[in-house]
Amino acid sequence: MDDKVRSVPGPGDGLVIIDVQRDFLPGGALVVPNADEIVPILNRYVDRFAGRSLPVFVTRDWHPANHCSFRSKGGRWPAHCLQASPGAEFAAGLTLPGNVSIISKGTTSQADGSGFSGTGFDAALRAAGVRCLWIGGLATEYCVLATARDALARGFCVILLTDAIRSLDINPGDGARAVQEMIRLGAVPLRREDIA
Ligand code: ZN
Repeated sequence: MDDKVRSVPGPGDGLVIIDVQRDFLPGGALVVPNADEIVPILNRYVDRFAGRSLPVFVTRDWHPANHCSFRSKGGRWPAHCLQASPGAEFAAGLTLPGNVSIISKGTTSQADGSGFSGTGFDAALRAAGVRCLWIGGLATEYCVLATARDALARGFCVILLTDAIRSLDINPGDGARAVQEMIRLGAVPLRREDIA
């Protein structure tokens, strides 16, 4: 891929913001360390896309009370992002364009963390003419990785916004390893300073 071609978002590109929700930010039910740092950075990417009338997608965890990932159901996480709860709201400081597309995921008890799992996301991207996903959000080694992996497997290109992701790092280095895995699979890392 020619980095110069990709240094500015253009036709065929779509911004995809993964799960920047209150429960993942300080004070939430499942805090991703330093997650609040990416909000202003994502806002700058939103400006870049919205200013060029390019599509912006946001995914959100939107869980029922009996979601399989919750400890009460044998999963590994505390209950989080319950449907229509305050914790499921997008971060207060995140500025989204009026025509943003919201992709709710994990909406049934067994649905997993990828933006592509039973959400209609693939069809929505194709309907919008998106071929390349510029991905940022939370958390790097879980829903960002799962979504990027599925996007690449479906033939989309992925630009990973490495300054606009944060990881849980339950095991030290989990986030860094996930970034390397995404690059190995074909994702192209990009930072805001790389954009002309
Ligand atoms: Zn979840």
